[in-house]
Amino acid sequence: MIAPMLAWLGLGLGCPAPDRTTTTAPDATPTAPTDADAKAADTFKVQTEQFGDVRILRYRVPGFEELPLQQKQLVYYLYRAALAGRDIIWDQNYRNNLRVRRTLEAVWRNPATHAMPGWDAVASYTKRVWFSNGIHHHYSMKKLAPEFTAEQLAAMVKACDPKTLPLDAGQDADALLAALQPVIFDPTVDAKRVNLDPKADLITTSATNYYGQGVKQKDVERFYKGKLEKSDKQPISVGLNSKLVKEKGKLVEKVWKVGGMYDPAIREIVKWLKLASEVAENDKQKLALDKLVAYYETGDLRTFDEYSIAWVADTDSRVDVVNGFIEVYGDPLGYRGAWESVVSIKDLEASKRIAAIGAQAQWFEDHSPLLPAHRKPSVTGISAKVITVVVEAGDSAPSTPIGINLPNANWVRAEHGSKSVNLGNIVASNEQAKKVSGVLEAFAASPEEIARAKKWADLADTLHTDMHEVIGHASGQLEPGVGQPNETLKNYGNTLEEARADLVALYYMLDPKLIEIGVMTDLEAGKAAYDNYIRNGLMVQLARLEPGEDIEEAHMRNRQMIAAWVLEKGKGDNVIERVERDGNTYFVVRDYEKLRALFGTLLAEVQRIKSQGDFKAGKALVETYGVKVDPALHAQVRKRYQALGIAPYVGFIQPRLVPVMKGEAIVDVTIEYPDDFAAQMLEYAETTSLLPTVN
Ligand code: ZN
Repeated sequence: MIAPMLAWLGLGLGCPAPDRTTTTAPDATPTAPTDADAKAADTFKVQTEQFGDVRILRYRVPGFEELPLQQKQLVYYLYRAALAGRDIIWDQNYRNNLRVRRTLEAVWRNPATHAMPGWDAVASYTKRVWFSNGIHHHYSMKKLAPEFTAEQLAAMVKACDPKTLPLDAGQDADALLAALQPVIFDPTVDAKRVNLDPKADLITTSATNYYGQGVKQKDVERFYKGKLEKSDKQPISVGLNSKLVKEKGKLVEKVWKVGGMYDPAIREIVKWLKLASEVAENDKQKLALDKLVAYYETGDLRTFDEYSIAWVADTDSRVDVVNGFIEVYGDPLGYRGAWESVVSIKDLEASKRIAAIGAQAQWFEDHSPLLPAHRKPSVTGISAKVITVVVEAGDSAPSTPIGINLPNANWVRAEHGSKSVNLGNIVASNEQAKKVSGVLEAFAASPEEIARAKKWADLADTLHTDMHEVIGHASGQLEPGVGQPNETLKNYGNTLEEARADLVALYYMLDPKLIEIGVMTDLEAGKAAYDNYIRNGLMVQLARLEPGEDIEEAHMRNRQMIAAWVLEKGKGDNVIERVERDGNTYFVVRDYEKLRALFGTLLAEVQRIKSQGDFKAGKALVETYGVKVDPALHAQVRKRYQALGIAPYVGFIQPRLVPVMKGEAIVDVTIEYPDDFAAQMLEYAETTSLLPTVN
């Protein structure tokens, strides 16, 4: 599970990240940088450009240069394994993505096209496609709308050497253009990557390539119904690493493995993972890497669980990696994993804070408002750390999560625990860029609220992510005999799971326990977290929706669901007051303790829904509070937000690792920080295009 970055809305997290305007704001207390790191951060250009609705940032990797050679080698091999899988996510997202991307890249590389009519619009569209790993918006899932004509694109494509175009056998440029015409220009064709509208067939109305043509939702549900024995206490993650297709009227899984689907990319990933294994830091890490290789070689999901267990057990290593088919948000039915990789080194200092929370996991579980039967009697193996990201690829780049909690298999989590990480340098880079956003000033109800956010929001934000990941997702248990949440709660499962993790964090945000264990100095930080959650859940996040749209994305649904529910249930006690002033709406928290109690009540209910697999109640909760938008408030929020002139999404340019060779041996690895997004995308196209255009 991930906590996504929702940066420019001031929602740093899958949680209520506050928007803050800290030290650079005119009315904040100026704080001079006191150490070399801070000074270096000041001269490092964080933001490089803005296009469409996104901003491109860079991040640094403090600590990399100081790693011993063996760890640098390890990081380098994992970095190569990460980049090797990049094409996979493109094909997973949509079957025509690689064809579109390679066409656009051919056009980009031909300088003659840059002077042709429509070039600026083509360039902007190309960057948006690169950013989204395909032609659908990375967040809203809607097809990106080109602002150039088919004729303009056709002229550019025809100006290219045919050898540079992704032509099928016997295809010419005209045939390619004919094939691309509806894909790029017809807004009704494959309009959404992931459709979650329960009134429609979720599979046939989603453009995702996880299912073959002609496969229907009923087919999928029937196919997997008998696959899992109810009595199996260690169920595999069925469907996680395959595409489900119809062949001669029969449903067949095309497994992603060496010798299977995506073979050329997976083979390359395996090559680098094997080299990494040879320089592993210790036996536990080596075991995990070897299991991962075995899983890629066999496609066996039991081996994947063995790998996950070995990976969770590897807590002492400095270097870590996520590499595989992991998150299932891209599948409307939540079976199939998007390929991603995150290579990181541990931030030793910052990890102490998160470890302090993890160490108290049992206390938090015991004192939670859950029904006793839904509490875990023993919370095992929660490991938490802050990591410094070295490279991200696949589903986690350029748009990145800021918190990760894995593995996803519930039984592995229950028996072996999970690893929870906060992507420290990514968050820091985002904070740096956020300082001047102005969102806080535009939406906070009072100078007190602004002052509280400025003073405490950094801490509140960090703690919320930590608790969301470390104790939130880790908490609670299913009642005996109840199926996995993606079976029982279907398309509402993700929203309810994120709500659960957020509610655990919110409930404890105002608990003196946090002061006692030394991670918080003042409960004002908790109040700042509550202000932010309400402000964002009821208003700010609406800025990213187009007029008339419902909320679709799981984290956004969860946030509004929680905020709208506590607003309604607290009405009698005036817990949250809606204030109208000068034509602007504000939501003011009037009673923090009562708000905390309401978060607790909702937490118990959401956990009950998960523990009992109560689909009906889960659906009612999400549909009633999390989906619909008040059009008048929405329009007002958009206006206030647009006045700030900031793009709501951010993504990152990745660092580049360069090995220093002496003969065959790597004697050092240096790190570079490229600053041109398009150049990096073209570089990746040159070096990591491993899959055929059609898979
Ligand atoms: Zn989460």
